[in-house]
Amino acid sequence: MDYYSGQISRLIEELSTLPGIGGKTAQRLAFHILNMPVEQVEKLSLTMTEARKNICYCQECYTLTDKEHCPICSNEARDHQTIMVVESTRDLAAYEKTGKFEGVYHVLHGAISPMLGIGPNDIKLKELIQRLEGEVQEVIIATNSSLEGETTAMYISKLIKPTGIRVTRIASGVPVGGDLECIDEVTLLRALEGRVEL
Ligand code: ZN
Repeated sequence: MDYYSGQISRLIEELSTLPGIGGKTAQRLAFHILNMPVEQVEKLSLTMTEARKNICYCQECYTLTDKEHCPICSNEARDHQTIMVVESTRDLAAYEKTGKFEGVYHVLHGAISPMLGIGPNDIKLKELIQRLEGEVQEVIIATNSSLEGETTAMYISKLIKPTGIRVTRIASGVPVGGDLECIDEVTLLRALEGRVEL
């Protein structure tokens, strides 16, 4: 990219490190940014910096939030005895969009993957087990239907079963290997309603 001056090349390079942004898109974004009013660019970069600095884990469900407790956990009207376990904050958002789940969540931030060397201690699993010491009636495992998601589901169910708490798994209406956030709301709801005992 020698034909651009150093700063433009750097901007394109930085943008292309983002997921899903190839060289061409990075160029388009770079020139778009260069055409934006300076104040708007400052607002954008400030928003990114502030979000990165202030976002932390919810102390209860470990979703990403900017407060000690996320809006879902701090909502008294939610059913705190039903916990849905998901792999990521994006999966949580997918279920929240259906507007039909009244329980609370637990975000693992990943899934067990022996192939990638990700073990039970690398995800928020002990944090989930700690939560079960409270009054929990059901744990719904809504990890993805990928190999890693299934492995994680099995592992969690084995851990929880002896406690006597009901453990269920969302129905396999969710396409195998499917990312929860890409699945439409109707399918998600059907998967939730058709959940099976583990
Ligand atoms: Zn929370």
